[in-house]
Amino acid sequence: MTPFGAQTAIFWFRRDLRTNDNTGLAYAFQKHQKVVGVFIVPPEVSKRNFNALQLRQLQNVLDKLRQELKDLDSELVIIQQPAHQFFEAVQAAEVIWNKEYEPKTLHRDHAVSAILNQKGIHSRSFKDHVLLEPEEILKKDGSPYRVFTPYSRVWKQKISSNLLFNSEIQSKYNTEFPLGILRNYQETKDQIGLDKTSKLGFALRFGTVSIRALYQTSATISPSFVNQLIWRDFFTQLLYHFPQNSDAPYRKKFEWFEWDNNPERFEHWCQGTTGFPLVDAGMRQLRETGFMHNRVRMLTASFLSKNLLIDYRWGEQWFAQNLLDFDLASNNGNWQWAAGTGCDAAPYFRIFSPSLQLKKFDPDLKYLKKWLPSFFEGKYGAPIIDYKASREIALSKYASINPQIA
Ligand SMILES: Cc1cc2nc3c(=O)[nH]c(=O)nc-3n(C[C@H](O)[C@H](O)[C@H](O)COP(=O)(O)OP(=O)(O)OC[C@H]3O[C@@H](n4cnc5c(N)ncnc54)[C@H](O)[C@@H]3O)c2cc1C
Repeated sequence: MTPFGAQTAIFWFRRDLRTNDNTGLAYAFQKHQKVVGVFIVPPEVSKRNFNALQLRQLQNVLDKLRQELKDLDSELVIIQQPAHQFFEAVQAAEVIWNKEYEPKTLHRDHAVSAILNQKGIHSRSFKDHVLLEPEEILKKDGSPYRVFTPYSRVWKQKISSNLLFNSEIQSKYNTEFPLGILRNYQETKDQIGLDKTSKLGFALRFGTVSIRALYQTSATISPSFVNQLIWRDFFTQLLYHFPQNSDAPYRKKFEWFEWDNNPERFEHWCQGTTGFPLVDAGMRQLRETGFMHNRVRMLTASFLSKNLLIDYRWGEQWFAQNLLDFDLASNNGNWQWAAGTGCDAAPYFRIFSPSLQLKKFDPDLKYLKKWLPSFFEGKYGAPIIDYKASREIALSKYASINPQIA
């Protein structure tokens, strides 16, 4: 028997796969006697663009969510068809979801709202995924911020230390955050061998933790960690205001940039066989675990786009296929930052040196020992390029299009 009907509200789970402190879900349970949760399998999963690691993680999260809903006398229904088809066919008292801000998602949600509206079904959406929404922080003239520092200044002024929790469903907030890591974050975040970042990227991608609870916990003990959460909001609003960034460089000049795009070199980069130890260690960590330390992400991205002169979009795509914490806005924003094509970008002449980065951030080679044992076993290949020469070529190629001027 179908669990749906005119007396039942549907809560549409998307990037908020938890029952605790979930804004839209709290509203649904408050207002309706009967609530059914649906999860519509994203098209990238059905098109088999998810790798095995990503699928397993998502499956685990959905299993947990199913149990949580059962405990609340509700249920989770997994839908294997496009959102518009599902909502065209279903009956409901109301359809509720939490907002997302990516171009395709916004388009999908507008379409679904229109379909429901036509059928006379009320729909309602809530802010939940970010701390401050794209429209909440604008310049005085109403235009969006393109540079992080002024954005973050206004963000800090606007954020209220009393963000409301939606704890009606479960009375006590009970997620355990890595407090030790948060306390020492500023001192240890860049020491890649120590592996002391929060690893909350995946949980934030699928919303298994509440961003508000994370903010409340970290605000008093780690301003530098909060700064990372601001970067997350910053990139979300950037893609929201400049949706064309998802396919093209923000700085238009780069549309005509002559990338080398050597497929063999790209394959070396993907497989972690460039002969540059820290780059290779990072790429192997990514392949094996679906995670890479932020410092090494910056290095591998700079290396691909500048030293190998490969279109940053190739690397962006590889990260999207392999990162468990893949997020379109953060991935695109960070790639465009590293490649120098973004609005708030690393200057084109800032090219990360793999050997200096290694000395600085993995001085006792802990990270290397873990992810690149072949380096210590005499089985490691020679560099695929001459680093110094590649740097000079990149500098002159980038300088020739005067990238600092948008
Ligand atoms: C080329 C490149 C691609 C990236 N792709 C992604 C991506 O697809 N998804 C993603 O969430 N992050 C991405 N990042 C940002 C950052 O590397 C990861 O968020 C971080 O490494 C995740 O590990 P963590 O949870 O231990 O981070 P922590 O250091 O513990 O930070 C906590 C949280 O803050 C947020 N955060 C931290 N740094 C950034 C940042 N620079 N930009 C945006 N948010 C940030 C993330 O939500 C992160 O989980 C990318 C960075 C680079 C340089």
